[in-house]
Amino acid sequence: MPQEVLLVRPLLALVIALTLLPLAPAGAEEARFGLVVHGGAGTIAREKMTPEREAEVRETLDRAMQAGYAILEGGGSSLDAVEVTLVMLEDSPLFNAGKGAVFTHAGTNEMDASIMDGATGAAGAVGGVTRVRNPIRAARAVMTRTRHVLLVGPGADHFAEEAGLELETPEYFHTERRWEQLQRAIERDRLELDHGSEPPPAATPPADKHGTVGAVALDRAGNLAAATSTGGLTNKRWGRVGDSPIVGAGTFADNATCAVSCTGHGEFFIRQAIAHSVSARMAFGGQTLAEAAAAVVDEQLTPLGGTGGLIALDGELNVAMPYNTGGMYRGMKLSDGRHEVRIWEE
Ligand code: ASP
Repeated sequence: MPQEVLLVRPLLALVIALTLLPLAPAGAEEARFGLVVHGGAGTIAREKMTPEREAEVRETLDRAMQAGYAILEGGGSSLDAVEVTLVMLEDSPLFNAGKGAVFTHAGTNEMDASIMDGATGAAGAVGGVTRVRNPIRAARAVMTRTRHVLLVGPGADHFAEEAGLELETPEYFHTERRWEQLQRAIERDRLELDHGSEPPPAATPPADKHGTVGAVALDRAGNLAAATSTGGLTNKRWGRVGDSPIVGAGTFADNATCAVSCTGHGEFFIRQAIAHSVSARMAFGGQTLAEAAAAVVDEQLTPLGGTGGLIALDGELNVAMPYNTGGMYRGMKLSDGRHEVRIWEE
């Protein structure tokens, strides 16, 4: 073969390769990432919601979501994204977490939170904290700075203090709206007691309550994370703790399946290990994210009489947000352009 031909061949190959390069499917190499958020599920009666309040709730959810999304966009981790989003919602009086936490029967605020890393399976949680400004930060610190998963009560507050987290006095958590809710709940208990010999319920079921916050995220590296934070149920007693700080009940994340954050009547979510069930249905039952999330609500939660909902996200950027209540504050911002905030079926 003449020498020129020998030289031309690799050159030709190079030219062909370079020409074909832009023909590779657009976005095939682009990392997918995004964040899904909830602000609680409940009756959320449309007629009782003023336009001002609705706008405020939607705006706050969106702002928190955008802050988490910005972290993901900049190459940050899904753990950082869910934490930042929840810190913003905890700092708002609009949601039942942090600043806006509901009151216990004793007139205190006892908050629960958890976080889970889908990449490593690590998790951290706090239950019944009363002084930590941002319980989700305390949960993250439990995950990263201790060998434990769940710290509760004064010990958890003490740990947060030692970890250098911001603390607040009870006045910080006192909001008038939540205080009035407690008075109404106590009054209702009393009325119920008047009409029967049953002891009063331990807490007002969340049929007309909402505001727990949660977020799930997928980062550019393909790692999932989930986080949930709540003040629990208005009028709760005896150190009651719900599903939100229970890994597998209120929060779960596994890169192999999905990330989940729940909201609703916690006792039912604990009994059915709801968050983990979504993942288990995918892992062992071969269900898609949408199938698993819907089945958990329709076949596990609803038949038992449990009310609430969940948000779930997988590594393919599939999103599920089922609920069996009148509404659920929820939203998503994803790298494929999906961006929405919803309360009802709109
Ligand atoms: N799941 C929370 C609890 O039971 C409350 C809620 O999500 O509204 O503590």
